[in-house]
Amino acid sequence: MRRYIFYAFILLHLCVLFSACGIDKANGFFENGNETNRNPILPVTNRIDIPYSYQYLLTGIPGGWICDIGNALLFFGESRGSTGVILYEYDKSTGNVELFCKDAACQHNSERCASFSIYGNLELFDGEVYGLGSSVLKLNKDRFENVRGTNTVTSFQHYNGMLYAFTNDGTLLAYLKGSASETIIRESVPISNFWIQNGYMYNLKVDDVNGYVLYRMSVNMAYNKYDTDEIIITHVDFYRTDGIHIYYKSNNDFQLKRCDMNGHNVEELPIEHAYRLAFDDKYIYFWIFNINDTTYSENGNLYRVAKDLSGDSEFITKLYGRWPDIYPIYQSDFLFISMDQEWYIMSKNGENFQKIILP
Ligand SMILES: [Zn+2]
Repeated sequence: MRRYIFYAFILLHLCVLFSACGIDKANGFFENGNETNRNPILPVTNRIDIPYSYQYLLTGIPGGWICDIGNALLFFGESRGSTGVILYEYDKSTGNVELFCKDAACQHNSERCASFSIYGNLELFDGEVYGLGSSVLKLNKDRFENVRGTNTVTSFQHYNGMLYAFTNDGTLLAYLKGSASETIIRESVPISNFWIQNGYMYNLKVDDVNGYVLYRMSVNMAYNKYDTDEIIITHVDFYRTDGIHIYYKSNNDFQLKRCDMNGHNVEELPIEHAYRLAFDDKYIYFWIFNINDTTYSENGNLYRVAKDLSGDSEFITKLYGRWPDIYPIYQSDFLFISMDQEWYIMSKNGENFQKIILP
């Protein structure tokens, strides 16, 4: 299943590039605004890139492609000659990149291999490294082992001791701490761009009138009231969170906005046409492309602005790649960038930009 998921993801990006006017909500795309001739087709934020921006605050990264484990970063890359992604390790102090699996006798092609057995959803929780493979896996010494869930789990997140898992039929399950028995919280949950925090699940759903709607619902089992949907924002183009604010762009305009986690106190940010967003403790990083350029998706600039909005936006660098994903490493002076199935690393001020060569 791992390969299919990875290539489905690539396909999503390719669809963005090659479809001039197709609107396919089922495939996760929609058009931005009414002025269709000047607006690109945008990808709805995929589950695998929603909450990464949160990881350095809560050290959780459901759906994540990269995970900070302290002295090193774990990330997925495609080795030469391989047919999909495998797990690599970046040593923060030396800059060395190695396969995560250190077994010299291993061919890195079996479920016993720590690099091969997982393909997404890297998460650090309670000092343990989790990932998604044949089910929810946890790192035990040099190997990932099945801890919870079934092979129908498509994404998961720990919060407050609980494990929440989405299955491929849209069921949200919860596992109480230390328990192997599952509780169904909700069935038929649309999409699964979810994030769980403070007893709520944030998620997107489609509605004919309001387009993509960001809502939250209680997942607090103690109160047993899972049916309290609370609509937060309509016509959402994409959203991100740093756990303090929800950042979002409406497809009614191009302005980036943010609000509290309950949807209140909406504030406009001095940022337009941002289609990638990430955070560290001090800055909002955003990627903007020139919409008047037909090669827009390869013509983006990376900027940052202080979270308290003091000072102007600061140009970091131009990125010659399509739909980059930006990972500012918390408490370290570097950015990881993923674009066109390659990884790059640079200082947060844009210096020392270099491609990561995977062994
Ligand atoms: Zn191996």
